[in-house]
Amino acid sequence: MAKVDKKNKKIVQSKNCVGCGICASVCPINAKLMKNDDFDPETAELAIRVIDGVAILSDEICIRCGACSKICPVESLKIVDLESATA
Ligand code: SF4
Ligand code: SF4
Repeated sequence: MAKVDKKNKKIVQSKNCVGCGICASVCPINAKLMKNDDFDPETAELAIRVIDGVAILSDEICIRCGACSKICPVESLKIVDLESATA
C-alpha cells in the first residue's frame, strides 16, 4: 500500500475522460482485487473502472496513490492535497 494520508488527498476528475481505461489498468488496488480467487469483473468494487465510456472512481476504495492521474493521457484525473486546496 502506498503511504498516503488518504484523508488529506482527493482525486478530482474532469470531463476530459475519453474512456481509454489506462487508469483502471494501472491502479494497484484494482490489480490487488483482481488477484482474488472470487474476483468477478461484473460485481467487484474496483477503485476505478470505465462505465459507459467514462472513468468512475470509488472514493471509498481508492487510496489516492496518484498512479491513475500520472498516466491519464488527457489529464482528466488530478490528485490534490485537500489542505492546500482549502487554504
Ligand atoms: S480518466 Fe484518463 S486514463 Fe482513465 S479512462 Fe479516462 S482518459 Fe483514460
Ligand atoms: S489514485 Fe486511486 S484510483 Fe487512482 S490508481 Fe491510485 S488507488 Fe487507483
